Amino acid sequence: MPRDFLKNAKDEYDVIVIGSGLAGLTSANILARQGYSVLLLEHHYQLGGMATWFKRSGGHIFDISLHGFPHGMIKSCRKYWTQEIADSIVQLKGIRFENPQFSLRTTFDRKDFTRILIEQFGIQPEVIEGFFNKARGMNFYDDQSLTTRELFNEFFPGRDDVVRLLMEAITYANGSTLEDPAITYGIVFSNFMQKGVYTFEGGTDALVLKMKEELIRNGVDIRIRTLVEQIEVSPGRQVQAVVVNGRRIRCRAVLSNANIKSTILKLTGEQHFDPAFVEETKAVRLNNSSCQVYMALKPGEGFDDGVGDLLFHSEHNGFDIDAMLSMNVSSRTFSFYYPGTRPGSNRWLIVSSTNANYRDWADLSEDDYQAAKKHLEETTLDCLEQYVPDVRAKLDHIEAATPKTFEHYTRHLAGSSFGTKFEGLQVSRTLPQQVQGLFHAGSVGIIMSGWLGAVNYGVIVSNDVDKFLTPSTPAM
Ligand SMILES: Cc1cc2nc3c(=O)[nH]c(=O)nc-3n(C[C@H](O)[C@H](O)[C@H](O)COP(=O)(O)OP(=O)(O)OC[C@H]3O[C@@H](n4cnc5c(N)ncnc54)[C@H](O)[C@@H]3O)c2cc1C
Repeated sequence: MPRDFLKNAKDEYDVIVIGSGLAGLTSANILARQGYSVLLLEHHYQLGGMATWFKRSGGHIFDISLHGFPHGMIKSCRKYWTQEIADSIVQLKGIRFENPQFSLRTTFDRKDFTRILIEQFGIQPEVIEGFFNKARGMNFYDDQSLTTRELFNEFFPGRDDVVRLLMEAITYANGSTLEDPAITYGIVFSNFMQKGVYTFEGGTDALVLKMKEELIRNGVDIRIRTLVEQIEVSPGRQVQAVVVNGRRIRCRAVLSNANIKSTILKLTGEQHFDPAFVEETKAVRLNNSSCQVYMALKPGEGFDDGVGDLLFHSEHNGFDIDAMLSMNVSSRTFSFYYPGTRPGSNRWLIVSSTNANYRDWADLSEDDYQAAKKHLEETTLDCLEQYVPDVRAKLDHIEAATPKTFEHYTRHLAGSSFGTKFEGLQVSRTLPQQVQGLFHAGSVGIIMSGWLGAVNYGVIVSNDVDKFLTPSTPAM
């Protein structure tokens, strides 16, 4: 008999959350705290979505997306999770850029960037001040037609090197390009510039374990290895139930943390939406995907502290999104994980990340796919040699992930690492107007992606669900 991962699950809940990415986890926690009965369904065998990790023999633990997030995560975790989680968030101070145009180290905050822009790039202080103020003043209701390219042209015309400094890390962090609305850049960049780049001490496994414990304390019914096949909607367009592992479970509301396009077009079905909304959904562009190479050093081997925490390496001249996505990799971000990442551990690991196009990898034959992965590993080691001499001799384990890997584990269409382009946010926000009781929280619109974006979007949408489930009574 196959194991029943829904054993003893109830037949009805107030809310069913589909997916345990950071947005799904946060929503489930808040709604359970508010007293709703919550069922959390996750198809994978571990919680976290892209906030995940994996183990390999020899005691190595690799983090997938723990490279850096803004300081705002401390407040969000304290308010919507626990003080203990917030207390484990620490700053990464060694951010490094190495490319043909410049070589520099920074704490990646406004003060240090201002210094660098003046001293190393010769920009006038009032121009820098004007740029930072404009970026920081941006919000969702601003003019959305201004592109990031136009924003840079306004302040730094002809300065490809400045654009690179200001943009490259953000492109790695959320896949945005110069053609995306400037607000998607301004909001995310300003979040980082506030106080720099942060990480979770203890690793993603420790974070997700702490989150799981808190969910259990708050009464969330958590089920892994449960793939939702359908969101059932009445003819009057009201959510009724979900079908998961072949079982129907009723609910008053569904909050889907699955990809927004899959939620609407696959899990629910086009027939339940206005035709114009279906067209709008189909037109939503996905963000790019990623490749990673995971490298663990032999016990006792390490690298010099001076190598930094996050290194943006490129051999390409100028900021060029096509080059960043190309299989012919010329730009990589290296994350260096010291033993301090997991206090008590004696392991040194390196993860190299590159942005990538899904089709480049998905269309390869199996042989070509394996060869391309091998090539990626080898060229990554070649590149890493200049920062960690003799890395091949020190290496205990190496493997690569591609857009196909991310698609497989998170079920994101085309392995999209950062959800959708900006228009996905509008579709996500207006979903409940189409089907009563159906909500979406997860990476959309660039600004709602990344660790902080996903957590904060989970907060916003759980408030919407709360309002839907408990409408306020009008004053007498
Ligand atoms: C390589 C890489 C590096 C990254 N680096 C960073 C970084 O340094 N900093 C940062 O802030 N962000 C980073 N990110 C992005 C960040 O990890 C994500 O934006 C964020 O974790 C996404 O959270 P989410 O809530 O949108 O859900 P996701 O993580 O997308 O999770 C969705 C969940 O839903 C589940 N699901 C989907 N369909 C179903 C179904 N039908 N039934 C049941 N379950 C389902 C999936 O299995 C998954 O667990 C990175 C991402 C990648 C891929």
